[in-house]
Amino acid sequence: MTQDLTSLKPQRPSLYRLAADGRSLDFLFTQCPACHALSFPANAPGCMHCGHPTADAEQVARPGGGTLLEYVTLHVPLVPGMPAPSIAGDIRIAEQVVEEGVIAVDDESALHPGMALRAVAMPLASGDSYGCAFVPAQEAAR
Ligand SMILES: [Zn+2]
Repeated sequence: MTQDLTSLKPQRPSLYRLAADGRSLDFLFTQCPACHALSFPANAPGCMHCGHPTADAEQVARPGGGTLLEYVTLHVPLVPGMPAPSIAGDIRIAEQVVEEGVIAVDDESALHPGMALRAVAMPLASGDSYGCAFVPAQEAAR
């Protein structure tokens, strides 16, 4: 991992940005002014927990990652440019917030439900941007 990711743009700038370490990602949430829970993505029209309008809510960045709930190996690409086979999982990225993500491990044997994952920047084939992938948290710390 020697590529300078800071020169690349996020593929989905409304969802995440490069963290201070230059490799992992911060996710962008909206903090509800009424119930103080986090909603994702930040540009959702209302709080996903209580429905309160979040147009004026504060946007907060939190280290991207979460708890792996379940996962499946995909043998065809979900989106153009996605390698196959790849592993997709449901990841709880905040209290009551579950997102689907790509998990960058060689095979499912490296995974188990309940493990901690960290979001990292993955350079895309286009060469000028990065996407989001998840790796086991202890791997990201290396
Ligand atoms: Zn709320």
